Amino acid sequence: MPSHSNAQRLAIVPDAEDFAHEPQAHSTSKVPVVCAFCYGAGMEVIPGKGARGCRCRDQNVQARLLESAHIPRRYSECSLSNYHPVSNNGTQLRAFNYAYRFVREYPSVDRGLLLMGPCGVGKTHLAVATLHGLIEKGIPCLFYEFGALLKEIQESYNLALQISELKVLAPVYETEVLVLDELGAVKPTDWVRDTMMQIINTRYNSRKLTIFTTNYMDEHREQKDEVLEDRIGVRLRSRLYEMCKTTIVEGEDYRHRFDEE
Ligand code: ADP
Repeated sequence: MPSHSNAQRLAIVPDAEDFAHEPQAHSTSKVPVVCAFCYGAGMEVIPGKGARGCRCRDQNVQARLLESAHIPRRYSECSLSNYHPVSNNGTQLRAFNYAYRFVREYPSVDRGLLLMGPCGVGKTHLAVATLHGLIEKGIPCLFYEFGALLKEIQESYNLALQISELKVLAPVYETEVLVLDELGAVKPTDWVRDTMMQIINTRYNSRKLTIFTTNYMDEHREQKDEVLEDRIGVRLRSRLYEMCKTTIVEGEDYRHRFDEE
């Protein structure tokens, strides 16, 4: 019986063409993801030491990453393959493509994402779908709704609870990719602005990527509307231009569909 040559065994590495085409809006196939460490080969090379079974093969690692990502149950099923950009809506397709490429190209990604748009257009869905894709690649991620994070920090000042501010913030600073959902939703007091700046600046300085969602836009849609800059301040908005690719997502509130069913 012929023995398997290396060439045959290496054939499990996905072909480059697998990724040569942009995903289509109607595509329902699972988005291909390739491990950043072994590129699908299953073995990880440790420089100067040799090779070992790749970490991506360890299902437990993925389960642990998923648990520590704190993705809300409501969004636990959100993936790139079940995000369906509404036909003739270029903004949704573009946002989907950014998220898809983020997962495919990570860690060769130098900027996060800022998903801006009205309620229910799938911003959080796409942000969470990106985290799910990264977790499949073995990347540690974390999800926080901004208001909930600020509340946890405030609670840490309550000495009786015996949790330090740093204990809350350490994972936020350290995780590879962080989603901060609902940027600008909390009333912008000086403390809120300083704390947001501290968190975002720390991640910026350590070159960690962050994906933001916000319901606030850069331009006034109606005279009475506040814009993102009003909510987070000029300095922070300016920092986000540098840290993130901004993409506007338009459309009807998707939640209305659930009402029609
Ligand atoms: P936003 O963050 O923009 O307010 P969400 O991401 O919370 O909106 O979306 C609201 C609900 O609608 C979620 O259950 C989400 O999964 C679903 N949804 C929104 N847009 C889409 C889409 N294009 N395809 C599939 N589900 C969607």
